[in-house]
Amino acid sequence: MGEQLMGVGASSRASQLSFTDPKVCRSFLVGTCPHDLFTNTKQDLGPCPKVHSEQLKTEYENDKDKAKHGFDYDYMRDLQKYIEECNRRIDVAQRRLEKTPDEIRQTNALVSN
Ligand SMILES: [Zn+2]
Repeated sequence: MGEQLMGVGASSRASQLSFTDPKVCRSFLVGTCPHDLFTNTKQDLGPCPKVHSEQLKTEYENDKDKAKHGFDYDYMRDLQKYIEECNRRIDVAQRRLEKTPDEIRQTNALVSN
């Protein structure tokens, strides 16, 4: 996958990075990056612009004070945002089912913009 190619490029840089660096993907450190989560779905976000490093993830997991960074909170907030976006799309899809073929065509034209 393209993402893994990116990871290879990133890991050489990652060795000089600390996991608190803003270039490092916090969602990846804490759990799963939303960019990985929605791969090959309509919700696909494309490759993550930030650094995914297994090494930094391990460092983060082993950090006794990791709670103080608040990454967990950021992660939950981020995921919430994506879940809301998903729900919104499901809503749109469901409303589409109640429409006439003409209305569906109009909706599709709007959504595919
Ligand atoms: Zn990421």
